[in-house]
Amino acid sequence: MATTETAVRVEDKLFQNRYLVDAGRAHIKVRPHTTPSPALKALLTTCPAKCYEMNDKGQVEITADGCVECGTCRIIGEPSGDIEWNYPRGGYGVLFKFG
Ligand code: SF4
Repeated sequence: MATTETAVRVEDKLFQNRYLVDAGRAHIKVRPHTTPSPALKALLTTCPAKCYEMNDKGQVEITADGCVECGTCRIIGEPSGDIEWNYPRGGYGVLFKFG
């Protein structure tokens, strides 16, 4: 029996959210490094919003504008000191759209 259900991609769901960027005050910072630690490299694949990227120097960078504040990177990267994580200031950050 054929089904008409289609899979919904995470990227399509995240696109529904809106973000109020606090310009110049990123709520997550990556510690300066020359070679990323294993924990830092793990963030490249574990962030659901794909905020972490490897630059052309082999360092991990973050663009926190699309962060959904799930805390995954906080659990992985903050204990080792690889990142500094704070909630955005009140009124800034992700605005979830449910449904
Ligand atoms: S809190 Fe979640 S969405 Fe935001 S940067 Fe970390 S892993 Fe990505």
